[in-house]
Amino acid sequence: MNYCIALIAFKYKIMENNRRNFLRISALLGLGSFASSGIAKNFMEDELSAPVQAVPGVYELPKLDYAYDALEPFIDAKTMEIHYSKHHQTYVNKLNEALEKEPSLKKMQLDPMLKSIKSLPESVRTAIRNHGCGHWNHSFFWKNLKKGTNPSARMMGVIQNSYGSLDNFKAEFEKAGTGLFGSGWVWVINNFGTITITTTPNQDNPLMDIAEKQGKPVIALDVWEHAYYLKHQNKRADYVKNFWSVLNWEQAEKNMFGG
Ligand code: MN
Repeated sequence: MNYCIALIAFKYKIMENNRRNFLRISALLGLGSFASSGIAKNFMEDELSAPVQAVPGVYELPKLDYAYDALEPFIDAKTMEIHYSKHHQTYVNKLNEALEKEPSLKKMQLDPMLKSIKSLPESVRTAIRNHGCGHWNHSFFWKNLKKGTNPSARMMGVIQNSYGSLDNFKAEFEKAGTGLFGSGWVWVINNFGTITITTTPNQDNPLMDIAEKQGKPVIALDVWEHAYYLKHQNKRADYVKNFWSVLNWEQAEKNMFGG
């Protein structure tokens, strides 16, 4: 078993070194535009929407870029207010409490902590899995919401390559969102230049070494009841359909291609 893990780690290291060398050589040869197109990147390389830290190891609720009612009527103001100021704040507080118990982890950024969740000290592993990742997911999710945007031609190309058409992509996403049992998230991840829809239970995310499908998040939808119950009650499918009116395609493109 250990031998197998070591072998996979070794193989990955070679792939990673090859990729880095390729990027280095591309840059030297003046092929920078290809190397920085986003296609050659993967999620190990760059961090996205790094959650806010006031001082190293102490996290804060990030500022919302819009008012609570900005996403009406698709996401109502009351839900936004409670979701952001109560639920998200609680994840931040409990993450900070966990780090007080294990101050050595304060030196570490949140992304690498989530990517190596299996190796974190047992005393705080579950707290960081739930609340650290809860903080990461919600910080990502707020930026992922904006009314009135559309996929660019470049993004449409990725969608068509991966799912045939935008309609089919939306249908698959909705199926994943309504089919997920209990609380969790629907994700679109960058799979070396194509996209893949996946789900995670509770507050897990695809950065984690325990995720079924790992990759860099491009799009996220919170399908916990607290995200929609005031407006839609038990009708999660209506909430998931409304997502297309508030999905921030500009941010999705940045997450996919960088920039
Ligand atoms: Mn939530």
